[in-house]
This record gives sequence, structure tokens and C-alpha cells, in this order.
Amino acid sequence: MRSFQHIVNSLRRGEGVTDDELVLLLEGSCESDAYLTSQAREVCDGVYGREVYLRGLIEISSYCKNDCYYCGIRRSNKSAQRYRLTPDEIVGTARAGYAAGFRTFVLQGGEDPYFTDEVVEEVVRRIKDDCAGCAVTLSLGERSRESYARLKAAGADRYLLRHETACEKHYEKLHPESMKLTERMDCLRSLKDLGYQTGCGFMVGSPYQTLENVVSDLRFIESFRPHMVGIGPFIPHRDTPFRDKGAGSVPLTVRCLAIVRLMLPRVLLPATTALGSVGTGGRVMGLLAGGNVVMPNLSPPQVREKYSLYDGKVSAGAESAEGIAALRRELEGAGFKLSFEVGHSKM
Ligand code: SAH
Repeated sequence: MRSFQHIVNSLRRGEGVTDDELVLLLEGSCESDAYLTSQAREVCDGVYGREVYLRGLIEISSYCKNDCYYCGIRRSNKSAQRYRLTPDEIVGTARAGYAAGFRTFVLQGGEDPYFTDEVVEEVVRRIKDDCAGCAVTLSLGERSRESYARLKAAGADRYLLRHETACEKHYEKLHPESMKLTERMDCLRSLKDLGYQTGCGFMVGSPYQTLENVVSDLRFIESFRPHMVGIGPFIPHRDTPFRDKGAGSVPLTVRCLAIVRLMLPRVLLPATTALGSVGTGGRVMGLLAGGNVVMPNLSPPQVREKYSLYDGKVSAGAESAEGIAALRRELEGAGFKLSFEVGHSKM
């Protein structure tokens, strides 16, 4: 087996590394973590400099027809507080964010049948009309190819749909039988074909995940070549079947981010909310390992608690001028610069 320096250097040069070598990096050690993350950061600096793109997350609905075992807003969770924002509320939230400097809005939600193509089209059109030069990212789960095409035609620029795990057997342990990995993968391919800047991704430390599964996730990302990758630790939610499972590891999450940065130097890679939720400094650790996007919550304060995917989710506001100033200070303290550009993919 080669040394971790050799393996990281090979990744950086775009040369092949073996699955066993990836496992060695994922197992980590103080020395190998330091080398891996510093190399990933250098690669990111070369493409994006120290700029960190800002995205405003608007959680449009906590209704969901799916029943993913890990997720707090799953259909079977009778204790979940359900809400949906009206089109006016969503557009109003985006406009307020625009005034505060946001140039990308991420509309995320459960798979809520209320949000038909007609409704989402109208919302996307209105945001694009009212907020000149902004980008709209959708994260509304699995829809038909026709639906994705319509939403693209209405002006949506990007779509986030985590694949969750690239291994079919593992996928079956996280989802009810009605949900199929092949369908999720078909959705991802459609999104990319249709010209969306497309994001996939997975949870680190989801129940039953092995390091071999993580290697499959990284290999999938390497071959699919998405524009964006969302990776965060699994965090249990008290009202789900996984309530007693352990949370994913922050160091392992950070290693995954760094490896993805080395595999895809130009990818848009957020330091995710989940990473920021498990202990202090998670967000900055993600950026130091090659992340270049932050997605603070723009949802109206009265619904934030209700969009409860996992316990302890941070949702401190950045919609106010003070919120943005605090975020800017946090990033500047770590040597980064908050960018108010629209921040399209350079893939
Ligand atoms: N319904 C949309 C949006 C899902 S929420 C969709 O299907 O894409 C966004 C992401 O949150 C999910 O893709 C999942 O990876 C993550 N998530 C859900 N429950 C979680 C948990 N308990 N811990 C950490 N991340 C979780």
C-alpha cells in the first residue's frame, strides 16, 4: 500500500487510486487528515480563491408523501408539525433575501403534492422576475422528467437531489420498499440531461453504512461528475425508526468533502447545515477541507422549527443584516470572504 501522501498526490493529479487506498484516507489519522484537507483546500483556492458563495435556503413545505426512515418529516411521523408556505410567502422571502444581498435561492421541501408543476412554475417565474440576475435551485425530491423539464423552462437553474447511498442494498435499509435507488439515479440523469446544474450527495454515518459504501458513493460522484455535491453527517431524529442510531462522524464527513474536492476540483461543495449542527466550528472545518458554499436559512422564523429533518438542526437567521454580518465575521475570521455573486458552477 502506498503512503497517504502518494495517494493524495495521485488524487490531486487526477490519477487513479484504488478502493483500498480510498479506505485508508477515510480511516484517517492526524497526519493524513492534515495533508488531505490542506491539499483539497489548495485545489479549491486555485479554482475559487477564498470566496465562499452564499445561498439562501427556503424550506417551503414539511409535508411529505415519502417515508424515509432517517427523516424527521417522513409521512409516518405523527408528531411532525406540518406547514407549507404560500407562493406569496415564498416569493416574499426571496425578495427580502435579495434585498439583503442573496443571489441564489434554494427552495427545498418534502415531496408535497400541493406543489404541482403549475404552482412551482409560478413561484420560479415570479422569483426570477422580481430578483434580477438571481439563480433558483430546487430541492423537491423525485419528479417526472416532464416535470423537471417544465420547471427548467420556467427558469430554474439548479437542482439538488442527494442520491443518499450508491449501494442498492444499503438504500433498501434506509427507505421503504416503494422507493428505489434506480429511480433516484434516473432522476439525476434526467436533471443533468435537461441542463440543470445538478447536485447529488449522501449522508455520512447513516445507519448500516460501511466504509465500502462510502467508497461507492465517492466513485459514483467521480463518474457522474455533478456540478454540486451535498455531504453531511447523519443525525438521528427522535420520532423516526433510527432514533437510537448514532450520529455520523464529523472527521469522516470532512475527509469525504476533501476527497470530493480532489476528485472534482471545480465542484460546488457546501459546508452543510448538518455539519454546522453537530458541534461548533463544523462549517469552518468544511470550508477548510475544500468547501466553497454556505446555505444559511432564509425560511420565515415561525416555520423553521417545523422543518425538522433531524434533532438539533441549527437555524439561526441570516436573513437580517445582522445575521449576514455575523456570518461574514465567522468566515473572515477563518480567512474566507463571503461572496455575493450568483456563483454558478464552473464545471
Ligand atoms: N425531499 C427532498 C429534500 C430532502 S431534505 C429530497 O428528497 O431531495 C435534504 C436532505 O437532508 C436529504 O437529501 C437527506 O440527505 C438529508 N437528511 C434527511 N434526514 C436527515 C438526518 N436525519 N440527518 C442528516 N441529514 C438528513
